[in-house]
Amino acid sequence: MAGDLRAGRGTNPELAALLEDLHGTCWWCGKVADSLEHRHKRTDLERLWEGSRAPVWGGDGGRVETLRGPNSKSRSVRFGAVLCQNCNNARSQPFDRAYEVFSAALVDGMDGWWEADGVDLGAIYGPEWRTEALKLARYHVKNMGCQMADHGVRPPQSMVAFLDGEPSMPDVGLYLVKSESHYGGHKLFRQFGPNSGLFRPDDHVYFSPTRGRITGYEAMAIIGYVGVALAWSEAPDDHDSFFMHEFPVLNQIPADPGFAEELASLVLQALGNDPPQDADRERNL
Ligand SMILES: [Zn+2]
Repeated sequence: MAGDLRAGRGTNPELAALLEDLHGTCWWCGKVADSLEHRHKRTDLERLWEGSRAPVWGGDGGRVETLRGPNSKSRSVRFGAVLCQNCNNARSQPFDRAYEVFSAALVDGMDGWWEADGVDLGAIYGPEWRTEALKLARYHVKNMGCQMADHGVRPPQSMVAFLDGEPSMPDVGLYLVKSESHYGGHKLFRQFGPNSGLFRPDDHVYFSPTRGRITGYEAMAIIGYVGVALAWSEAPDDHDSFFMHEFPVLNQIPADPGFAEELASLVLQALGNDPPQDADRERNL
C-alpha cells in the first residue's frame, strides 16, 4: 500500500499507526536533537527575497503564508527537531557548501534545463567532481532524512552510514529530475520576474499493514522545476544514483494535470494577490 504524507494533515490510519514520533533525538548520531534543519537551504530562501514582493509559501488545499524571513522558525521554513547542532553544522558543512555550488548552477541555467539531457557535474565542480558530487548527495540525504524523521519515518541505516562516509547506499537511489508540472509554473513565474519557486512535493510512503512496517519512501526537492529525488525501498536495488556520473541524466517527470493546475493557481496567487489575512497565516504556523 502507499500513502502521501503532509505535515499536519490527516493520513491513512493504517499508515499513521506505523509512524513514530522521532523528534528530540538526532537521527544521524543519536544525541539530543537541538537543531532545526532548514526545509530549503537558507541560501535558496534568501534568493526569494531579492524581488520586490515578499515570498509566499503555499501548502495543501491552497493555503498560503507570507514568509517573514529565511531564518524564521516557521514550519514552512524548518523541519522539527530531529538533528543535533553538531550534525547540522560542523559535520555537514562540506555537504552544504557542495549543495550551494550546485544550486547556484541550477539557478544560473534555469531556463535551459528543460531542453537539457543531463547536468554536467564536471563543468560545475571541475576535476574534483567525484568527491563534490558525493557531498552533494550527502546534503540531500541529510535534508531528506530530516523530512522523513519529521514525518515519523525512521531513515534507514544505509543513509546514516552514507553520511558517515560509505560510498553508496544499497537500498536508496538519488536521481536528478525535471518536472513538467513545475516547468509550467516556472514559465508563469518568468513572465513576471527573475525568481522562480522552491518546492517540496508530498513525500510518498510505502507500507505493509500485514508486516506492520514501512517499506519504502520517496521525496523530491525542486528549485524552479529541477532538483533531486530520493527513493528508499527496503529491498536492495541496483540504484544508478546521479553522484556516480560526471554527466548524470535529468529524468523527466511527466505533468500531473491536477497538480499542474493547482500549482498554476498557487503561482498566480503568489504573484498577484494581496498577502493572506493574519488569521489564515497564524493557523498555518
Ligand atoms: Zn547528531
